[in-house]
Amino acid sequence: MKPMKILDISVPISPTLPVWPGDSAIVLEQFRAIAKGNASTDSRLACSVHSGTHVDAPAHFIENGATVEQLALDVLVGRATVVERLNDDIITPEILEAETLPAETKRLLFKTKNSALWSDPDHQFNPDFVALNAESASWMVDNGIKLVGIDYLSIQMFKDTEPLTHRILLEAGIIILEGLSLQAVNPGEYQLICLPLKLAGSEGAPARAILIEQ
Ligand SMILES: [Zn+2]
Repeated sequence: MKPMKILDISVPISPTLPVWPGDSAIVLEQFRAIAKGNASTDSRLACSVHSGTHVDAPAHFIENGATVEQLALDVLVGRATVVERLNDDIITPEILEAETLPAETKRLLFKTKNSALWSDPDHQFNPDFVALNAESASWMVDNGIKLVGIDYLSIQMFKDTEPLTHRILLEAGIIILEGLSLQAVNPGEYQLICLPLKLAGSEGAPARAILIEQ
């Protein structure tokens, strides 16, 4: 049996990680420290639940929608297809039709030029990230997709005035995974394990997401 290869597709949460405009910066600080003479080191975390690699639940854009602790674990874990589109600015249905996806694909993760942004040490929030248009969101619904992931902080374009892409996906119960880092990942089939923090009543949660090579 060949050794299992695990790819970490989560970004490190730290105060220097770019956040969505208007969100408070990430606070991760020690309030007790062995180096300061305390018996233990203890830290405090304060951040938007949409920080770094995270999951959006329906309640993010739908009143009384499901919250993150209610999301089905059997959707968050399972076979996923990584689609690589490094030269596109928008993921459109034409692109999706041109891809030959494996039959029964339920989880789609998009590797775009966004992924390179995470490795820039001076990375500031970039509003020109690649995302899905509303027509692609409808394509996901029509094609039985249950989870869709993107390698930046939103599944929809920054310039969108209406949150149509989010609404179409979330109304259909499709789980949205945002803030992935896919630069080291080749397109293809993997086993996805994505475990958002079990935040009661929250419309989203940071997640550790990994891919296991099959
Ligand atoms: Zn989000």
